[in-house]
Amino acid sequence: MSENDTTPTESMITFAELPLSPAVIKAVQDVGYETPSPIQAQSIPQILEGRDLLGLAQTGTGKTAAFALPMLSKLDLSSSEPQVLVLTPTRELAIQVAEAFQRYARHMPGFHVLPVYGGQDMRGQLRGLKRGAHVIVGTPGRVMDHLRRESLKLDSLKAVVLDEADEMLRMGFVDDIEWIMEQTPEERQVALFSATMPRQIRKIADTHLKNPATVEIKAKTATVDTITQKVCMVSGFHKLDALTRILEVEPFDAMIIFVRTKTATVELAEKLEARGFAAAALNGDMSQGLREKVVDRLKKGSLDILIATDVAARGLDVERMSHVVNYDIPYDTEAYVHRIGRTGRAGRQGVAILFATHRERRMLRSIEHATRQRIETMRLPSMRDVRDMRIRAFKEEVVKTLELGEELDAFRGVIAELETEHALSHEDMAAALCFMAQKDRPFPDGKEPERPQRERRERNDRERNDRDRGERGERGARPRRDRKEDNEGMVRYRVDVGRDQGITPGDLVGAIANESNISGKNIGHIRLFDTCSSIYLPEGVDASTLDSLKNVKVRNKALDLKVWVDDGRRENFRPRRGRGRDGEGFKRDRDNRGGDKRQGSRRPRRDA
Ligand code: AMP
Repeated sequence: MSENDTTPTESMITFAELPLSPAVIKAVQDVGYETPSPIQAQSIPQILEGRDLLGLAQTGTGKTAAFALPMLSKLDLSSSEPQVLVLTPTRELAIQVAEAFQRYARHMPGFHVLPVYGGQDMRGQLRGLKRGAHVIVGTPGRVMDHLRRESLKLDSLKAVVLDEADEMLRMGFVDDIEWIMEQTPEERQVALFSATMPRQIRKIADTHLKNPATVEIKAKTATVDTITQKVCMVSGFHKLDALTRILEVEPFDAMIIFVRTKTATVELAEKLEARGFAAAALNGDMSQGLREKVVDRLKKGSLDILIATDVAARGLDVERMSHVVNYDIPYDTEAYVHRIGRTGRAGRQGVAILFATHRERRMLRSIEHATRQRIETMRLPSMRDVRDMRIRAFKEEVVKTLELGEELDAFRGVIAELETEHALSHEDMAAALCFMAQKDRPFPDGKEPERPQRERRERNDRERNDRDRGERGERGARPRRDRKEDNEGMVRYRVDVGRDQGITPGDLVGAIANESNISGKNIGHIRLFDTCSSIYLPEGVDASTLDSLKNVKVRNKALDLKVWVDDGRRENFRPRRGRGRDGEGFKRDRDNRGGDKRQGSRRPRRDA
């Protein structure tokens, strides 16, 4: 590697050193971010100072927090007028950005953010706007609609963010942006983020930004001759399944897996340990002494897998490190080069595997450019591969035990006794012993888990959606509901409406998303019963939101939302099986069953 690999990849500054509000710093700590990403370290002070900002940054760099954290720190919660307007090219991004604001404002009681985008019921948005929101995140078309109807007023606006400006240009929103900018007060602050800087975006910047600070993350190049790079297009909760398959099939000596947060290091280490891998977390919350101990165990071979954040892995030099997995994509190419430099050491060959989502493909191209290598797409091992590998390893162990001349005579005696006492054949005894040997970690049957129909449908939708994002995002069909895949980090609630009222899961999602700042995507599993239903909502929803949801009506009946109390009456209102109007709930049930078959331990069904 030509790069000096002791160079820190992120700023050494901490969040606490930035003049962010204490509530925001606390939220960032809760989320588990260790240090600001480079774009954050550079942008946050400028935005806090009130300067306009031109940020050359793409998805994955942490750009959302780069503007959300300082903007939240400056909000005046005593006024419910919109103070920040964020324009995004697609409704998906609008939802994501609104969720990010919500996450970072978790210690700001009374804070409201409202996503507004095409394809969503106008009435809900109008009600939300009437109620008041401090931050509006929207797609240009819908924001224009609201400005024209005067349902959105920008008199108190303090700041505008143009997010993914080049995407908005690509989708033909330039004139809309110009028009919206003209409706904003003269003295507002503007932050424009764009992955590239085409002429028209430069023109918008020149017209609407006053003496902007420019923030750009330099892409360093580095040669990585001793490292084979691969990419695996995988996202969300499929990452854990993909990782497990790779760990089963890919021959590795030691491996470091990079994630973005301290919390994720611990969670992933626990999940891998539970699946029988020798894994441990390495993060900045651990004392220096503890970190050294963990690294020492890795060097000595009592540990094979480290799950680390960038900060914790800085300067790590372990010769046996054969593999690096970028479980979460890094913020920039420099961080990537630094991460993969943990392998291919002392002249050995290393393998670097990157998990990336479709949305992160631009970062993937930048990485290829920075490492001057094409990154081959990796085929994910099939369950058949996993099964074959496990059986091969088992056979090798049997042969090795015999080759090593282990003391087996006493066992031969037991076999002889079994044979005479029970008239058993050697084949039957060996088969029974094989079964006993693998029973705690059964060989997989080699079959791929059925992808739930809903998931297949969503994937098709997503692909179609990605192809023609703009149009559909603004004018197209109903918003895609891409809700959380499991109920982790969620609380189960009971609502007082059920099949007797003729409701569907969609009615509940619509009512809750429209009447609160919980987006449809954040609503978990729904189950319909005859007289009531259950619904999972994210932990930490504030009391006033829960209160207001009590009175929301669906089919003319108040939800009367309450935390679910298991009163044993479930058999009285057992859900009906099959598809039909409440089918969605059951498909989500099946979603929850895609767990690790290796141990026969399927993903626990929280509501079973
Ligand atoms: P973005 O580039 O804004 O789309 O952010 C990409 C991902 O990085 C999001 O999942 C964020 O939660 C995460 N992220 C943003 N800032 C940080 C940080 N300082 N440390 C760790 N993760 C972060």
